This record gives sequence, C-alpha cells and structure tokens, in this order.
Amino acid sequence: MSTVRLSPPPAVHWITETLQKAGHDTWAVGGAVRDILSGYSAGDWDLTTQARPGQIQQLFKRTVPIGVEHGTVGVLARDGTLFEVTTFRKDVETDGRHAVVTFADTIEEDLARRDFTMNALAWHPLEQKLLDPFGGLEDLNAGVLRTVGVPKKRFTEDYLRILRAFRFAGRFNLTIEEPSWKALCKGIGHLADLSCERVREELLKVLDQHRTPSSALSLYAKAGALGVLYPELDELRIADKSGASNPWESTLASMDRLPPGNGFLRLAELLHLLDSDKVTGILLRLRFSNAQNDETARRVSAAPLPGIDADDAAIRRWLSSTGPERLNALARLEMARARANPSSIPTPSEVVDSWRRARCMRATGAPLTISDLALDGHDLIRMGLHPGPDFAQILNDLLDFVLEDPTQNERGILEARVGASSNSDEE
Ligand code: ATP
Ligand code: MG
Repeated sequence: MSTVRLSPPPAVHWITETLQKAGHDTWAVGGAVRDILSGYSAGDWDLTTQARPGQIQQLFKRTVPIGVEHGTVGVLARDGTLFEVTTFRKDVETDGRHAVVTFADTIEEDLARRDFTMNALAWHPLEQKLLDPFGGLEDLNAGVLRTVGVPKKRFTEDYLRILRAFRFAGRFNLTIEEPSWKALCKGIGHLADLSCERVREELLKVLDQHRTPSSALSLYAKAGALGVLYPELDELRIADKSGASNPWESTLASMDRLPPGNGFLRLAELLHLLDSDKVTGILLRLRFSNAQNDETARRVSAAPLPGIDADDAAIRRWLSSTGPERLNALARLEMARARANPSSIPTPSEVVDSWRRARCMRATGAPLTISDLALDGHDLIRMGLHPGPDFAQILNDLLDFVLEDPTQNERGILEARVGASSNSDEE
C-alpha cells in the first residue's frame, strides 16, 4: 500500500472517522479516486464500508435510504451534501445481464467484483493509503484499460461491462489491452440481451459527460457494438466510404463540437442524418420518455435556420414552425456542423448571422404561435361558430396571416377576416 495525498471534502474524513471509531473498515472508492489519480477533477465521493446499512443509519443522524437492500445509505453532511456509503459487496450470481450481490466482509472482496483495474482502487481517507490490488494506477499511468481478473469471465458475468469499457477508454483516452479487447469482441452479440434502460444510460453518459464522445462511439463501431445496438447508425458508417466526408465520421466530428453537459443535444446530432422512421425507431427502442422522444425528433427534423437571403416573414415562419423556444438548440446544432466541416455552407459566421437575426425577430414580440393571436377559440364561439376541428384550421390560417404581417394581429382585424371567410363559405 502506498501513501497518496488527496484532498476530499472534509465530510469524507468525518464520515470515515465516525465509521472507523465504531470499528468498521471504511474506504473511498470508484469514480472520484480514479478521476483525481488520472488528473481530472473528482465527481461524487463514494465510500465503501464493512458496516451494514442498519449500522450506518444508526451512526449518522441524517441519512437517506438510497438503496438499503443493495447496501447503499446516503449520509448528509452538515452543508447538505449527500455522500453515498455502501456496504462491502461481492457477486454471488451473474447471468450476463446483471449481478446478484451480497454483503462482504473485506475491502479486498469488494474490489475484486469491480470491473476494471482503475475502478478497483480504494483510498483510505484517514491513513492516506492507496489500496490497489490489481495494478490500476500503473494501468492508468500507462494508458491501459484492463479487466479485474479473467476478461472472458468478467464480460460474461455482465455484458454491460463491454459498453463501460468503451466509455472509460474513450473518456480517459485508454487503450483496451489485447486480451480484454478480444474477450469483449466475442461477447458483442450478447449486448442485444441487455435491458434497454442500461444501454440507454451508457449512451447518455458518453453523450453527456465526454469532451469528445467520438472516442467511445468509435470503439462501439470498431468492436461491432454499433451494428448490434444501433444498426441504423452502422448503416451510415458503411454506406459511403468513398466520399471525402463519410456521414458517420462527419456526425462524430460535429457531435464533438458540442459542449458536454447536454447529452440530449448531442443525441439529436447523433441521429440527424437518419430518416425520421429510423430516429423514432431508436428513440422508442431505448424507451426515452415521450417528452424526450418528441423534443429529439423535432430537433432532428427541423428545417435549417433561414439563410442571409431570407426576409422577415420567412424568419417568423421558421420560428413558428420549429417553435421559438427551440431556436438556441437548433442554432447550436447548425453551428457545430458548420465548425466541424471547413467547406460547409452555411459557414460558421453565416450561422451566427442567421441566429442573431432570428433572436432579434423573436425579441420583437411578433406573434409566432396560435397562443400569441389576438383572438382565440372563445372569441370564435362568441362569433357564433361551432367548436370543432375547423377551429384549428381557422386559427392556423390566422397565424399564417399575421406571420406575414404582425401589425394585423388585432382582434377586430382578425374577427373581420374570419367573418369574411365564413360568409364566403356560406355563399
Ligand atoms: P461515473 O460515475 O463517472 O460514470 P463510476 O466509476 O463512478 O463512473 P459508476 O457506474 O458510478 O461508475 O460505478 C461506481 C463503481 O462501481 C465503478 O467505479 C466500479 O468500480 C463499480 N461498478 C459499476 N458498475 C459495475 C459493473 N457493471 N460491473 C462491475 N463493477 C461495476
Ligand atoms: Mg459514479
């Protein structure tokens, strides 16, 4: 065990000390230790302990039962930060889709069930000692991703580890060592048996967290996972290898131009070259919520921003049909595409120009949606019209009319227009 100085938040020390004083061996594990040792800033600090959940709950005043049956108790620090404290665990049964775990007595057993060597590092907050039974630090320093234990066995226990290997290799720029790579390639067909929720969360983590999601997604493609999980995208990759810009490669390049922290925007970029039925197919298969499906599908199918030649009415019509609230997201997507491709039309500065014009137009308060009209369904009823499917048509026609000329958005003018057209219908 080597001495390593890390600087966790003070609560990590306090939680460890409380558990140790009660006789329970306790360590910091997982993402935070790995991230700091590889030069990244730490995310959440997770602790693992020999104490059972009931004992953790007794020792701390303020706790949250995050997943007590799996051994996880949330401990609230004085400043309100929540720290996950999980009892040492070991796998007792695995079926390739998930693992059944039971509590264990030692940190060594707990580390042995973890997937990759750099995820099997434990650091003792009081003794400042690093426990690294599988050489994770050396692997991290050498830029190598390696399973804990025999690769074939570890991937067969839980095939999600294949996708996790792509994610960690992509995020930390690691090379997957040969035996681990060969073993994961053999398991690729089994990815189809994983639950769609786990597959979806893996994809979202890549899209949301990585500086360059292309690194992990290229590994999906190289190992054949893209063909199993996302054949629609694999078709893009195979489709056109001759041209200067392969559609899959250009999609990856523009996705990398979008900043991390907004996985759904990158998801729209990932899908933007697919036909709408394929987009819907992927979104439904991954069981995104209806709202997420709808928003993503709209972003994917939106028309390009009006170009420099567009007149004001064309800008208003574009804002109206795509939804004014979608302007910034769509502009970011176009900007990423323009910046990723040096010969693109529009150029990045043209996109900025279109974006600015559309933003200014939106700020004028011109009517852009049915709800902005100076007349609504109640007014139509008051005018003696019978509610029904025609109402939507009438309101849409009025919207078309005021999109052309916003000064016409006055109740009297709109009423007269409805009156005139219903009279001419009766004639
Ligand atoms: P991040 O939170 O940044 O995605 P992480 O390493 O914290 O990365 P988690 O999914 O939060 O990843 O898991 C925490 C730890 O639990 C991992 O570091 C790993 O040691 C272990 N772990 C998680 N999932 C598995 C799995 N499917 N098989 C084996 N070990 C796992
Ligand atoms: Mg984590």
